[in-house]
Amino acid sequence: MKTAIEIRDAIRDGGMTAEDAVKASLKIIEEKNEGLNAFLEVYEDEALARARDLDARKAAGEDIGRLGGVPVAVKDVMLVKGHIASAGSKILENYMASYTATAVQRLIDEGAIVIGRTNCDEFAMGASNENSAYGPVKNPYDETRISGGSSGGSAAAVASGMVSIALGSDTGGSIRQPAGFCNLVGLKPSYGRVSRYGLMALTSSFDQIGPFAHTVADAALVLEIMEGVDAHDATSREIGETSVAELLDTSFDGMTFGVPKQCFIEGIDEKTLKLVKDAIVLVESKGGTIKEVDLPLSAKGVATYYILLPAEASSNLARFDGIRYGDRSEEEDAIANYLRTRGDGFGDEVKRRVILGTYILSAGYYDAYYKKALAVRKAMHDEYAEVFKEVDVLITPTSPSPAWKLGEKVDDPLFNYLADIFTCSANIAGICGVSVPCGFSDGLPVGVQFLAGAFEEAKLLRAAAAYEEARGDLEVS
Ligand code: GLN
Repeated sequence: MKTAIEIRDAIRDGGMTAEDAVKASLKIIEEKNEGLNAFLEVYEDEALARARDLDARKAAGEDIGRLGGVPVAVKDVMLVKGHIASAGSKILENYMASYTATAVQRLIDEGAIVIGRTNCDEFAMGASNENSAYGPVKNPYDETRISGGSSGGSAAAVASGMVSIALGSDTGGSIRQPAGFCNLVGLKPSYGRVSRYGLMALTSSFDQIGPFAHTVADAALVLEIMEGVDAHDATSREIGETSVAELLDTSFDGMTFGVPKQCFIEGIDEKTLKLVKDAIVLVESKGGTIKEVDLPLSAKGVATYYILLPAEASSNLARFDGIRYGDRSEEEDAIANYLRTRGDGFGDEVKRRVILGTYILSAGYYDAYYKKALAVRKAMHDEYAEVFKEVDVLITPTSPSPAWKLGEKVDDPLFNYLADIFTCSANIAGICGVSVPCGFSDGLPVGVQFLAGAFEEAKLLRAAAAYEEARGDLEVS
């Protein structure tokens, strides 16, 4: 396994070329993609041409950037100009992007080579990648199991070695959860840290783009490049900067970690809890201060999330009507056309959420559900703000269990919703979070989640990097 930084440095030092890097990626994709279904499309010729161009520019003495020659994968909900962007949906199977998402463009500007688009749950709705119109993604650690969702393709692409880094989007856990299931680092930046221009909106007040990587340093590098103000996204802000260099000298000294007592409840897989407890002990043994904290409202996260998400999603997805976006049906009558387009084009989970969201926003129910959920959201936001006065970082499991069997829970939406129990509150409150591998439960990867306040990525990544290093020491000894 090579990290993005290793690949970049090898190209910089002349140990390999960008073309070698792309060919190495293509070879593994060729070997493994048919089984895993991680990539929906691979831009082989374009990636090779770009690699040769970068190699030529480097040979001419040009600095080819902080990701010079590194192949990256992009979740199919982000636009890459001239390529299909289908959001894992049938309704957009022929939709061609007319511009490139800012986050992706910033990676390209630093020499990254976009090698293809990855499978995901339809419009990023799901926790297992089984809601994709293009089939589920298999977990590289056990192909009878799910990869996690909704960014399952990006997770499997990195975990199987097809690429060293990939982009995902996280609205309620879709980067952190599949990262946990696939033994990766998965980072959800604070709301507003990374521009969403060119990301198909699921829940505009939650969505963030972030990286999958093998190491915290790689994830930090991707963030360092993507973050910051973008004139095309009014929510993007510049508050502090991520610095990979600062992570090199990392320790827990002086840091206080909060452990929410709401995490250690019934119904959570015992081995997962044991691994997270081990992580907490390790942090303490390396100089971190541990403190139990009370976050009663975080227990309301899933309920709040599944009110606000469908409400916003039903409105965001109204544009996929066969007239503005999406493949149009043959019906003459406008309403019949609209119904047929959406009826045929959307899968069950998307329909479920659109119907639920429409109901939540309808007269009479708006106050009872939507307004109430907004009030809970504000209270949750304040609860986190209070707790981050006492502690620097929170530690929780990423998910209540490791990856489940393919097909086992497809007909159980509630089970899938509850999989977000530890992740979705961070999106509701706009804070940042990262999942870091913490061990295996019966051969299946488990992630530990670190959370920090809004725009406190420096603290978050420092804690995650120190943990990663401490755990690495354990494995060596
Ligand atoms: N599992 C969550 C959901 O189904 C997460 C989605 C996401 O983060 N995109 O909504």
